[in-house]
Amino acid sequence: MASGQDTEFLVIGGGVVGAAIAYGLLRRGRTVRLLDEGDDAFRAARGNFGLVWVQGKGAGNPGYARWSCAAARDWQGFADELEHRTGTDLQLQQAGGMHLCLNDDEMAARQLELDTVASRIGEPYPYEMLDPAQLARLLPSVGPEVVGGSFSPLDGHVSPLRLLKALHQAIDALGAQHEAGVRIDDLAHVGGRFVARAPNHVFEADRVVLAAGLGNALLAPMLGLEAPVTPVRGQVLVCERAAPFLPLPTLHVRQTGDGSVQIGDSKENVGMDDGTSIDQLSRIAARAVRCFPVLANVNVVRAWGALRVMTPDGLPIYEESPTCPGAFVVTCHSGITLASAHAGVLAAWLDGGERPAHIDTFTADRFHVQRS
Ligand SMILES: Cc1cc2nc3c(=O)[nH]c(=O)nc-3n(C[C@H](O)[C@H](O)[C@H](O)COP(=O)(O)OP(=O)(O)OC[C@H]3O[C@@H](n4cnc5c(N)ncnc54)[C@H](O)[C@@H]3O)c2cc1C
Repeated sequence: MASGQDTEFLVIGGGVVGAAIAYGLLRRGRTVRLLDEGDDAFRAARGNFGLVWVQGKGAGNPGYARWSCAAARDWQGFADELEHRTGTDLQLQQAGGMHLCLNDDEMAARQLELDTVASRIGEPYPYEMLDPAQLARLLPSVGPEVVGGSFSPLDGHVSPLRLLKALHQAIDALGAQHEAGVRIDDLAHVGGRFVARAPNHVFEADRVVLAAGLGNALLAPMLGLEAPVTPVRGQVLVCERAAPFLPLPTLHVRQTGDGSVQIGDSKENVGMDDGTSIDQLSRIAARAVRCFPVLANVNVVRAWGALRVMTPDGLPIYEESPTCPGAFVVTCHSGITLASAHAGVLAAWLDGGERPAHIDTFTADRFHVQRS
């Protein structure tokens, strides 16, 4: 049985959440072993839409709105540093993002949602509702069926695959022990240290961070934690490269740094099925063409499904085990948007620093139903 060289931290899960945390810890001078199940695993980090997005987040939880906005504000600096370290262009564009509405009901619902966040967040919350003329000045290719939309200057997009690659490059350059193809199936707290076991491997460390996406549901209870996460499928279409027509990303259509067009997304409860379906793909394609008629003449080249990592209320869980101090669970469904925060203030907390105020309520005990 192979036994890994000793490190201070074990990070389990090499998706965008685990990789951002590992990067943040390594930047702080910690020794880290990153363990990842590998290419066969479900990986939202590889199938997502690449938005750095705050619009509408946290209508029911001002802490989440503040956490998302702080992460978005830090994103440019985070990207600059990562690009400088690795030479990988993340294709970050953060000049604002747009949510388009196709009827008055959608427009009213949008206005209410953003007004609600703005009234509760307790700090400046930049957004604007735009009429069709204002919209057309920012997005000239928008179609006549669009009745308006909302804009936030904090929003943007990035290449999620380049982000993941850059994080892994930076982690390796900073000296992480990085093991792919290792599925941890047993965790124990023995004599104040953590022991993680996979077939033919055993690893030990002082602290352990569970960042295994949907895998956290099984791993967390082994260390007195909870991660009631379930899959929510999203489907994405990719079109061939087109002449630049979309200077800003919208929630459902974005033109990537390479010129291809991504169209998303659905929200489906279909268990661990990351396939695609014609009905959903047709629906998202039809809406995209109503928003941008130019897309009617662009060929679709690929489609995929990927599984979101979702808690019952859609908010993150950041928690240290009450029974096994030094064990943490981290899970969220906006791992791209929050990557800067995970590598920054969250990694500082995991390393013994103060718990960021914005995330005070993100513990799993909020799911406990009180029985009378
Ligand atoms: C269609 C879609 C669109 C999205 N769009 C956006 C967006 O625009 N912006 C945004 O911010 N977020 C978006 N997301 C969400 C984002 O992709 C996720 O928040 C993020 O990928 C979660 O990262 P993760 O590392 O927690 O999980 P994952 O990416 O799923 O990675 C988990 C990793 O853990 C590993 N693992 C699991 N179990 C074990 C084990 N037992 N041992 C070892 N390793 C294990 C797996 O191999 C995997 O690599 C989207 C998601 C989807 C599905």
